[in-house]
Amino acid sequence: MNREDFKVLFGDKKPMAFGKMVKARSEYFDVVKDYCKDFENKDKMTVSEMIWLYMNEESPGKCMFGNYTNFNSYDKGYRDICITKGCGCYKEIQGKIMKDKLAELGKSSFSDIEIANKARIEKYGDNFASHPDVIEKRRKTNQERYGSNSPFGNKEVSAKALEKRKNAKKKA
Ligand SMILES: [Zn+2]
Repeated sequence: MNREDFKVLFGDKKPMAFGKMVKARSEYFDVVKDYCKDFENKDKMTVSEMIWLYMNEESPGKCMFGNYTNFNSYDKGYRDICITKGCGCYKEIQGKIMKDKLAELGKSSFSDIEIANKARIEKYGDNFASHPDVIEKRRKTNQERYGSNSPFGNKEVSAKALEKRKNAKKKA
């Protein structure tokens, strides 16, 4: 069994089925297991992760501080960040993204809204706000609450928001 044999086995099947297909065929699965046998975290790996490692001749993904990262999917491979408690890789990468973003915008700092976004990103992950489910949920919530896709689509709401901003300015 070699990598070409695996490609023949997979055919045009979606990656979803890879794991099951290989696991069901010991002559294939043994090759994959053998490839992964020296990885110390092999017991925590999913079958698709093991196949990915074998097919790409890779070793398990690690973050910039050397902790194992989560396997994303057969298409995407490993994530850049780990989920190890106390590891600083997420902040490092997030900080770099923010820095690049600032440079791109030609700014030296973010507004309050941008800082709030950053806090949310830290809490929920970088793809949270752009996740299709989240966008859809937000759209629905706004639709129900304001009868519009955005809170500012409704005149009453934008008037209220304007009032709030005025008051805030008065106080300041
Ligand atoms: Zn890390």
